[in-house]
Amino acid sequence: AKGAGRNRYFFYEEALSRAREDELELLSGLRDGLRQGHIIPFYQPRVCASDGKMVGVEALARWKHPVQGLIAPARFIPLAERAGLINHIGTTILEQAVKQRQIWAEGGLDLIMSVNVSLRQLCQPEFAAVVKKVLAIYDCPPDRLELELTETLFSESDPLLQANLAAVRDFGVRIAIDDFGTGYSNIARLNEMSVDCIKIDRSLISGLPRNQEMLTLVISMLNLMQVTIVAEGVETESVSDWTRQNGVHELQGYLFSPPVEPEAIEALADSQRLS
Ligand code: C2E
Ligand code: CA
Ligand code: CA
Ligand code: CA
Repeated sequence: AKGAGRNRYFFYEEALSRAREDELELLSGLRDGLRQGHIIPFYQPRVCASDGKMVGVEALARWKHPVQGLIAPARFIPLAERAGLINHIGTTILEQAVKQRQIWAEGGLDLIMSVNVSLRQLCQPEFAAVVKKVLAIYDCPPDRLELELTETLFSESDPLLQANLAAVRDFGVRIAIDDFGTGYSNIARLNEMSVDCIKIDRSLISGLPRNQEMLTLVISMLNLMQVTIVAEGVETESVSDWTRQNGVHELQGYLFSPPVEPEAIEALADSQRLS
């Protein structure tokens, strides 16, 4: 039995070091990918609940790996956070997204562009300056850019974070709370921050119709805050109908479209213009 225990320990050690090697390999690949411009945004439509028209898109990072194909953010964002690469990724996604928004706007497609921002990014001294510069380079109206922040971020007291948040708000950039309902929000604090938009997390939305009393309460409270209320992860007609009939303003989810390449967003916009 002792021998077996030692063996198990040995395998455990070996598995650990193999995982570590895999991670290092992934990380060096990610560094190369970043340098070569392989980290790109896909775009997922956000539609108006009352008429189904696309009002905006969310930029979601993808790693276009030359051998492995498309790699989802779950595989490289957490790693990028640990390795200090998230600022670099965040900036390249922000820049590509704002640039794409302006290309669309020049063609008559005026969308709100939502970009995810991690806690670490917001604590960078130069964050607000980078946002300002990207808006200026692509001549993007600040209120056409929305930054998605998670609710935990609002309980942070880091002075740099607070200064960055105040600065981007000051430019007129929109602020959205992402994954609402997954953390412990300080509602009073959220209200003070005067956010523009709240995205109710997919885990709450997919609980419909079981949790409809609770969601009704959440929505009426958010309505008091006068924010745009978005439902995330809308996958079925029945969920779409319920949210539309119960005060949600905008919807996002596979029912409408998964995250897609820019051409597919243009095709969707064209089909909506014709209908
Ligand atoms: P998120 O910001 O909450 O993004 C929504 C995620 O839900 C996306 O996954 C999207 O593809 C997925 N989704 C959308 N509709 C549905 C649906 O109807 N059903 C289901 N099951 N899923 C749906 P994705 O693209 O894999 O991104 C995962 C997470 O990675 C994002 O969650 C976000 O936290 C992070 N992420 C992605 N891009 C960036 C980025 O540029 N910067 C940062 N900091 N984080 C990012
Ligand atoms: Ca998001
Ligand atoms: Ca979300
Ligand atoms: Ca999420």
